[in-house]
Parts: sequence; C-alpha cells; structure tokens
Amino acid sequence: LKEQAEALCNGARECARRWWLPATSGNFSFRSSAEEGGRIFITASGLDKGSLTPENLVEVDLDAQMVAGEGRPSAETRLHGVIYRDRPLARAVCHVHTIWNTLLSDRFAEAGCVTLEDYELLKALSGVDTLRRREMVPILENSQDYVGLGRTLEEALRLHPAIHGVLLRRHGLYTWGESIGVALRHVEALEFLFEVEGRRLRFAD
Ligand SMILES: [Zn+2]
Repeated sequence: LKEQAEALCNGARECARRWWLPATSGNFSFRSSAEEGGRIFITASGLDKGSLTPENLVEVDLDAQMVAGEGRPSAETRLHGVIYRDRPLARAVCHVHTIWNTLLSDRFAEAGCVTLEDYELLKALSGVDTLRRREMVPILENSQDYVGLGRTLEEALRLHPAIHGVLLRRHGLYTWGESIGVALRHVEALEFLFEVEGRRLRFAD
C-alpha cells in the first residue's frame, strides 16, 4: 500500500508541475486489492497537489464514506466510487483540470463527445492496437450535484464499455487504468491528444 501511495503521489506531483491541477483542483485515487480490503485511497480536499505526500491521502469506501485518514475527501470522491464500481479492473482514477480538456469539453459539448482518430498515441490507451484507432471521449454536463452527476457518469460508463475517459463540460477529465502507471499514462496520452486536436482546430479556422 505504501508503495502504491508513493506512486500515486509522485504522479500527482508531476501532473501539478505540468499545471494540470491548478489551484488545489483535481483528485487522484487508487484502489487496494480485494485481499487488502478493496478500499479507495484518495487525495484529501483542498490540497496543493504539487507537494502531495501519502499522509495526504484519505481512505474511503466505494460510497465515498470516510474510513481513515486526516482531512476530508472531496465532493468528487463519489465519482471515483462510480468508476471503480463499474470498471472492476480499474485500480486507479485520475482527475485533472487542464486548459485543453476544459476548452474541448465546451467546444464539443453539443456533439456529446470528443472523437480522437488516427493518432499514433492512441496506442498508449490500454487495449488499443493499430487496428482500432478511434477513441470517443463522452462529455457530460457539469454539475455541483454529485449524486446526479454520479448517475450520469454511471450511464455513460455502461453505454460505452470501451472508453478510457470522460470529460465534464468546462471542468476536467476523468480517466482510469488497471494500475496507477496505466491511469497516469492515460492522463498523459489523452491530454497530449486534446492539445493536438485543439491546436489542429485552430489551424483549420
Ligand atoms: Zn474537478
């Protein structure tokens, strides 16, 4: 567990350094294995992720109820629980607020998704090989009602079993993976692709 907590914190600090978690926003979590209790360890609310350490993680159950730790879990913890419930193989969830994911989530809100097509880096997404080069990232309307948002997220996950991430409009990206390393790789790949797509659209104007 300690090793996983360190790995998650290293990843969060790196994302903060890249300015993907501005002003204490965003949250990262991992799920311990069933033998280790199957609990979620998530960054406590309101912390600067640039100096995150394992002591800053709180332990919660899948319903976002506090189990142990200092501080309080963020309101968005519920969304992590929804992802873990619906994606039994997911062992880590990352949520980042970046300029490009914020811009694209609004630009394509009416279409309902961002479509990423024929990019080499799509292969960085778990299970994607050269034969499948079309990735859809659904966009959900943002809300402060996290119970309602949790339901919308659950629907999107059920409707699209092959997706690797979900965007909340004008808010940020949620992505996950079967390990902390894979979830972090998904953040990096998707954020790269969002920026490429955003810049490509600007060239086309
Ligand atoms: Zn957020």
